[in-house]
Amino acid sequence: MKPPIRYEIFPSHPEAHLFEVRCTAADPDPAGQKFSLPTWIPGSYLIREFAKNVVRIRASSGRRIVPITKLDKNTWQIAPTDGPVTVTMEVYAWDLSVRGAHLDTTHAFFNGPSVFLKVEGREGDPCEVEILPPKGARYRNWRIATAMRRKGAKPYGFGTYQAANYDDLIDHPVEIGTFELATFMACGVPHDIAITGRHRADMGRLCHDLKVLCETQIRFFGEPAPMERYVFLVTAVGDGYGGLEHRASTALLCSRDDLPQKGVEAVTNGYRTFLGLCSHEYFHTWNVKRIKPAAFTPYDLGNENYTTLLWAFEGITSYYDNLFLVRSGLISGNAYLESVAKSITSVLRGSGRRKQTVTESSFDAWIKYYRQDENAPNAAVSYYVKGSLVALCLDLLIRQQTSGRKSLDHVMRALWKRHGLKDIGVEENGIEPLAEQVTGLKLRRFFHQALRETSELPLGKLLAGVGIDMEIRRAESSQDKGGKRASKPEKALAQRVNLGIRTTDNCSELKITHVLDGGAAQKAGLAAGDTIVALDELRVTPKTFEGRLGSYRPGETVQTHAFRRDELLVLNVTLAAPPADTCVLTVNDDRSAATLRRRWLGTI
Ligand SMILES: [Zn+2]
Repeated sequence: MKPPIRYEIFPSHPEAHLFEVRCTAADPDPAGQKFSLPTWIPGSYLIREFAKNVVRIRASSGRRIVPITKLDKNTWQIAPTDGPVTVTMEVYAWDLSVRGAHLDTTHAFFNGPSVFLKVEGREGDPCEVEILPPKGARYRNWRIATAMRRKGAKPYGFGTYQAANYDDLIDHPVEIGTFELATFMACGVPHDIAITGRHRADMGRLCHDLKVLCETQIRFFGEPAPMERYVFLVTAVGDGYGGLEHRASTALLCSRDDLPQKGVEAVTNGYRTFLGLCSHEYFHTWNVKRIKPAAFTPYDLGNENYTTLLWAFEGITSYYDNLFLVRSGLISGNAYLESVAKSITSVLRGSGRRKQTVTESSFDAWIKYYRQDENAPNAAVSYYVKGSLVALCLDLLIRQQTSGRKSLDHVMRALWKRHGLKDIGVEENGIEPLAEQVTGLKLRRFFHQALRETSELPLGKLLAGVGIDMEIRRAESSQDKGGKRASKPEKALAQRVNLGIRTTDNCSELKITHVLDGGAAQKAGLAAGDTIVALDELRVTPKTFEGRLGSYRPGETVQTHAFRRDELLVLNVTLAAPPADTCVLTVNDDRSAATLRRRWLGTI
């Protein structure tokens, strides 16, 4: 058996946010071993250049210092040696996100790509990691939460952990500190939830709800579950949201108010958001971590890894995340329809949907979705949100054309059997023929339109087929995200005016973040970054802006004072009624469609 690549990670200076990380190769390349750090982390499609956080690096063999040469931004080569070599790095960790590493005197968190060097040519070798505690009495109570397999370390303890190879090594984020821990079993598999950060969550309820959710998903793909254990690593903060999927765990960042509070029985909007995030990342355990694009097998960790399939891996996952909350009995069918209506609204509000297809959006994730600028709504469409609507349409189409005998569920299970279980990547053109085969339907036209064109999805027609009316109305206020019936008649909504802008909502000034294509603001010459200070010579703030606009009618012109940088502009803006871009879904009494709907969503 090959000797393992040995790693050691030590929070050497928590107060300076520094880890000391060692990597030892027992039999390095005699020509001079190369080491590299990934430039991105799987699941988050942006080049992040983790090597930028390497503060110091040195190499040694026994007691001898070995010269080290940097070859490019993330690769180092050591001089030829004839014995084991150790590379020691000091890594700066001050990124409180699910994608990087974070260390201070309250806790430590790291993802492998930020801290573990890849020994070039030895990616398949087994790995061992010794996780050491920081020095000092204040860290006495720290323990470890990770799904990495233990080798000698006690449960939740410091010591040695192991991984099958480098890819496995960097797929287990690690939380170290005084997190709150709770455990539950789902289909015989132990699940941990470790929460870092101050919070007052009802851990009993969390375990109860996550157990139902996890069991529903495991049974969907079929027992046994593909992992031996699973860990939810949660960081609770004042305001934050994010998740990253792994084979046997997920790292989540959430607002502490989104966690269920003791004594509150209802599923609040915040808790629904949190459960949806958990459901999303858990579904990835199958869809993207095991059913993978062929383009990701193996990952190219030094460069962008292009695929047109993120609409499926993120979009289908986004479709199922809230759907599994309904199937688990955690939210009602009506609450689900409200979330779908909000997704439809969000896509309708960006004219980018008419310019970028969902496959283009997938391919360009690296430079567009992950690097959104002020023009994003006018230029791009989200492969998450539109992808989830493509999945919705596909599911409803299959259900209707097979009279309920087949659904997207069958396609997902076939993907699991043919690709996930067998560890065979999904080719770029792999999903469409498989869906046709599984359902016996001709879906080529649907896929072409949904994936490679920018025309509107056939949502209204397909929803009508399951007895749901889709209404597209004008927004009632800037807070109106869709999903609910308007409190005023359409005639009144058509009398409202709108500038066609988005603004920051956490600022004392009315700063424009986005100017929407074809809107009143764009026509008048306002731009992103401008600060509106007055309308018709009356001062406006974020608080008073909407009320002030309420006294105008479509067609009227308002003199607008705004600053662009430090220059005052005076512009005449001709106001327009808000566009019809807000979706509401309601169940109708079409009896012929009720059976199909019940099979899809249960009784509403
Ligand atoms: Zn995702």
